[in-house]
Amino acid sequence: MSELKFCQGPDCHTYHTKDRLKGMKGSKTYQTRRRSSMYYGNDNFCSMNCYNDWFKKFGDQAINHYGRTTEAKHLTEQNAWQKTYDWDNRTDDRVYVYRNGITKEQRPLTKSQYDDSTYTLNER
Ligand SMILES: [Zn+2]
Repeated sequence: MSELKFCQGPDCHTYHTKDRLKGMKGSKTYQTRRRSSMYYGNDNFCSMNCYNDWFKKFGDQAINHYGRTTEAKHLTEQNAWQKTYDWDNRTDDRVYVYRNGITKEQRPLTKSQYDDSTYTLNER
C-alpha cells in the first residue's frame, strides 16, 4: 500500500463532498482530500478545481520565481528532438526513437534513455 498524501489545492477542504467530511460523529469537518494518488497536476491535485485554485493563488509567483518567458522561443533543428515510440508489428514491443520535428531524422533510443528526463539530444 502506497503512502497517502494530501491534495495541494489551497481550498480543497472548502468543497462540500461526502468523502471530505471526516471525523467523529458530532464533530465532523470538511477536510483536505488524502489519497495514494492524485489525478491532476503531476499527481498533486485531486481535481481540476483544486489544480486551478492553486494556480490562481500561486501561479504568478511560481512563474516569476522560475523565470517568466519574455520573448518568443524558436523551434530549430538543434532543439527539435522529441522522444517517441513506434510499435514493432511482429513482436508488439515498443521501439523507442528520437525524432527531429524539423528534419524528420530518427535515431534509436533505449528504454532507459527514453525514461531518463535529463537525457536529450537537444542543444540547451
Ligand atoms: Zn483537492
